[in-house]
Amino acid sequence: MKAGVITPGVADSYRVAEMAEPDAHGRVLFRPDLIGICGTDQEIAAGLYGEAPPGDSALILGHEVLGTVLEVGPGSQLRPGDRVVPIVRRPCDHCHPCSLGQWDQCQSGDYTERGIKGRHGSLSERAAASESFLVEVSAEVGDSGVLVEPGSVVAKALRQAESAQRRLPWVPHTALVTGAGPIGLLAALLLTQHGYAVTVMDQVEATSRRALAVEEVGATYAQGSQGLASGGVFDLVIEATGFSPLVFEAAAWLAPGGAMVLTGVTGGHRQVVEDTNQFNQRMVLQNQLMVGSVNASRADYLHSVAMLQRAAKEHPGWTDALITRRVEMADFKSGLAHQPEDIKVVVSVASA
Ligand SMILES: [Zn+2]
Ligand SMILES: [Zn+2]
Repeated sequence: MKAGVITPGVADSYRVAEMAEPDAHGRVLFRPDLIGICGTDQEIAAGLYGEAPPGDSALILGHEVLGTVLEVGPGSQLRPGDRVVPIVRRPCDHCHPCSLGQWDQCQSGDYTERGIKGRHGSLSERAAASESFLVEVSAEVGDSGVLVEPGSVVAKALRQAESAQRRLPWVPHTALVTGAGPIGLLAALLLTQHGYAVTVMDQVEATSRRALAVEEVGATYAQGSQGLASGGVFDLVIEATGFSPLVFEAAAWLAPGGAMVLTGVTGGHRQVVEDTNQFNQRMVLQNQLMVGSVNASRADYLHSVAMLQRAAKEHPGWTDALITRRVEMADFKSGLAHQPEDIKVVVSVASA
């Protein structure tokens, strides 16, 4: 079968190759329909990240997936034709959180991730996964089901904040999301659904597609920090840019007792001169919390599906409009190249 692969560690090695059919024994065979492209794919394609499965020299990409079930084994809860999303991460076999099924909190670092680390992804004509690592997506979600995985990252971020904030009496009203990319926009959607008054800050023009998407979901758009309401502080901040100087800047916008969740990463090193005394003072004197969050649990995937279902009713077409460009498997590289009006670029695998 055809698959989009890279050689890990080799920049610009993407190609469509003939790869072995997936092992569907005791697993669910599915046809990947749409594959989302994100910054992780860019890093892997640039040779900075990514690991092939043991014994393989190539890695099949594709971790943001919407597929259609082709074949199931006896006793399966799924049927051919059902739409499914495979969970990205698989547990290691020797850490405490993984032994409890909380693989997103793996502490050994020996987990595997489909299409990223030690396990093939789904940028291929066929793929297979254990049913316990598939999440069913209802029909009304449509092609937006390809957003379930990035949505799960946001759902986990909120879960982390809300569970950690049980440390104090906390009745949050306001939230700031930094970054109006797919993660930031899905965070705006989820937080408005949860009753927060949401501001999304980015650098793009207020007339851009991203800024309009913010307003359409009932959140407020701020172009740069000068666009934030003066003196405005927020009970919850979700940092979705990975631009590390912004982490320190945004900490100054946290309300007393507030929490900030960091969801973005940027590779390499950067040194900035910050007023670290002020940063330390605020964190201590205002009982503030900063927490990092990566990946997602099954519950977060289900929360993401529910978010997209509700959006389909309350804001018809909104999630579909986040998919701004579709490319074919052979044109994956053009999908990686950022264009100004891109929000989420997906590969349409059916046309391979
Ligand atoms: Zn991704
Ligand atoms: Zn583990």
